[in-house]
Amino acid sequence: MWEELQLHIEQLAGKAQKRTLVKTESDGCFIHMDGRHLFNLSSNNYLGLANDERLIHASIEATRRYGVGATASRLVVGNHSLYEQAEEALIRWKGCEAALIVNSGYTANIGILSSLAGRDAIIFSDKWNHASIVDGAILSRAEVRRYRHADMDHLETLLKKAERHKRKIIVTDTIFSMDGDVAPLRDLVMLKETYGAMLVVDEAHASGVYGKNGEGMAHELQLAQHIDIHMGTCSKALGAYGAYVTGKRVFIDYLMNTMRPFIFTTALPPSVLGAICAAVDIVQREITLRHHLHALSDYFRTRLQQVGFHIGESTTHIVPIIVGDNERALAFSAQLRERGIAAVAIRPPTVPEGTARIRFALMATMTNQQIDWALSHIFEVGKEMGLIA
Ligand SMILES: *Cc1c(COP(=O)(O)O)cnc(C)c1O
Repeated sequence: MWEELQLHIEQLAGKAQKRTLVKTESDGCFIHMDGRHLFNLSSNNYLGLANDERLIHASIEATRRYGVGATASRLVVGNHSLYEQAEEALIRWKGCEAALIVNSGYTANIGILSSLAGRDAIIFSDKWNHASIVDGAILSRAEVRRYRHADMDHLETLLKKAERHKRKIIVTDTIFSMDGDVAPLRDLVMLKETYGAMLVVDEAHASGVYGKNGEGMAHELQLAQHIDIHMGTCSKALGAYGAYVTGKRVFIDYLMNTMRPFIFTTALPPSVLGAICAAVDIVQREITLRHHLHALSDYFRTRLQQVGFHIGESTTHIVPIIVGDNERALAFSAQLRERGIAAVAIRPPTVPEGTARIRFALMATMTNQQIDWALSHIFEVGKEMGLIA
């Protein structure tokens, strides 16, 4: 028994896929890691709010007022008043009927899909969707049809084949985590309307970053009203923790009554809710930060492409350099670390075999000078490794 587990770990090590934890301490757009101070191109703290004084203050105040632990699930006695405040702020922000805060993006996706889809449903899921969507689809016991990444012809073929009487649910990330490309939301809306499906979107990487007030990609593309269920996390651009689901009142009521990862878990600590309330307020007003992040990202991608790096289909603040081989991705990351840059290597099974990469994530608090400095090191390492001429 133990030998089998040991063997499994050794096999992972053999494929350069064994993971270990490193001690980290974040400091704005820098990070202390491995005893070094590194420029942080690996964080999801896209607007820098995780270290924002206003969020820190709100979370301390919430703890003083309501205590450290929520003491019970929300349906029992854990529904402290900050929940109502946060959910009302979410409703105003997203312009929707109802909102529900759940404990994390991971549990939100598990919960939405397993509540919404039973054995008589079919889930249509983009092949590159986040692991939490994959797991939620499995847990639902529905039939799962995975369509080729962003391939609308493939999705349509699958929808055509589906039994008419079955509930159909299409689910997609709006910005894909490891590639930084954007889902074809307009086409997805068209297909869901044609085939009578529901559309669920995961705004984890777009929330706070896209949309006039940071509402997400659905709002950026003016499609919000055509999408049935919006989910997003408060742990990335919002700088806190927890996640939200927004949509019609009936749907939120349904989730409240059926979603096991909502019902059978203790409510979030008041400190987290305090931070979420502050973040939802601040994020709507940080228009300049968002513009700066987009300009910085456009520049970063353009420069990488000009020198010949393969950055896939990224059009956002998440930019991969696709290297291919696991060992080379690790070596690339190690070289950057030597030069003072934290940029993680992402390997299978997180990404498809043969597409190991460095994943860069930019932050709105970075300056043009810092990005130019980082680019010059990325270019040098790329040349040393023979990835560019
Ligand atoms: C990070 C992420 C999640 C999980 O959110 P957490 O709040 O960290 O649990 C879900 N979906 C996508 C696309 C993500 O990137």
